[in-house]
Amino acid sequence: MTAQIIDGKAIAAGVRKDIKAEIDARLNKGLRQPGLAVILIGDDPASTIYVRNKRQACEEVGIKSFYHELPSSFSQEALITLITQLNQDTQVDGILIQLPLPSHFESDKVIECIAPEKDVDGFHPYNLGRLAQRRPLLRPCTPYGVITLLDHIKIPCKGRHAVIVGASNIVGLPMSLELLMAGCTITVCHSLTEDLSDYVKQADILVSAAGSPGIIKGAWIKPGATVIDIGINRLEDGTITGDVEFNAAIKNAAWITPVPGGVGPMTVATLLKNTLSATARYDNT
Ligand code: NDP
Repeated sequence: MTAQIIDGKAIAAGVRKDIKAEIDARLNKGLRQPGLAVILIGDDPASTIYVRNKRQACEEVGIKSFYHELPSSFSQEALITLITQLNQDTQVDGILIQLPLPSHFESDKVIECIAPEKDVDGFHPYNLGRLAQRRPLLRPCTPYGVITLLDHIKIPCKGRHAVIVGASNIVGLPMSLELLMAGCTITVCHSLTEDLSDYVKQADILVSAAGSPGIIKGAWIKPGATVIDIGINRLEDGTITGDVEFNAAIKNAAWITPVPGGVGPMTVATLLKNTLSATARYDNT
C-alpha cells in the first residue's frame, strides 16, 4: 500500500477562494471590509516569514491588515496598552499576536488581554473553554484546519481511535478537543508518555504535534491509518521536515500530509476564516 498524499496547499487555496467570494459579496452589499491586526515583536526569522505570509493571504482575500512590527525591547505594559486600543478599534475584527513572544513576556497573560470575540487564533481561555464544552466560537487555527482537511477528504471520525502526540495549549490540546467533538475516541500523548509506539500503533487517525523530527517511526503506523503531521522542524542543513518518518510511513498509511505543504497552509486559511466569522458576528451579518 502507498498512502495518498493530502494536498494541504490545494485544499487551503479552495478555502481562501470561498472566503474571497464571501468578502466580495459583503462589499457588494455595502458591508464593511474585515480587518485583522497583526503584532510581531522582535526579529525572529521564522516568525517574520509567518507574519509576511499571513499579511499577504489577508490582502489576497480582501481582509485589511493593520501591521504592528515592534522591537524586542517593547514592554509587556506597552503591548497590553496596544491590545486594549485594538480591542476598542471598530475597524479591527481580529487580533493576532505572533508567538513565541520574547522571553520577558508572559504569553498567557498577554493572550488573556485580547477580547475573546477578536481572538482569531482561538488561544484565549474563553475560546478554549467553549471548545472544551463542544460549543466552539473562535477555534484554534491549526487544529480547526486539520478538521477541515479531514472533512475535505471525507475521513470518517465517529467512533475511530485518534491518537494525538503533543499536548500544548495552542496545538495538541485543542486538537484533541476537536477530534473528541468530531466523535473520535482520543488518546493524548506527551513527553512523559511511556512506550509512545504502543499508542501510535493503535491510531486510526494519528496527529503528531511534538515538534521533534522523525519521532514517529513509519513502522508504527497502523495499516490504513490517516496520518496528519503538524510538526515543523528546521534541520541543520535548512530543510524543513515533520515529526513523522514520511518515506516509511507512506508504506502503511492510507492518507498522509506532507511537510511542508500539508497542515501549514490550512493554518493560514483558517485564520482568514476566523477573521471573517468574527466580522460577521460583530456586525450581525
Ligand atoms: P510545544 O513545544 O509547545 O509542545 C510540544 C508538545 O509535544 C508538548 O505537549 C510535549 O509534551 C510534546 N512532546 C515533546 N516531545 C515529545 C516526545 N518525545 N514524545 C511525546 N510527546 C512529546 O510545541 P507546539 O505545540 O507549539 O508545536 C508543536 C509543533 O507543531 C512544532 O513543530 C511547531 O513548529 C508545529 N506547528 C505547526 C503549525 C502548522 O501550521 N503546521 C502551527 C503551529 C505549530 P509536554 O507537554 O509533556 O511538554
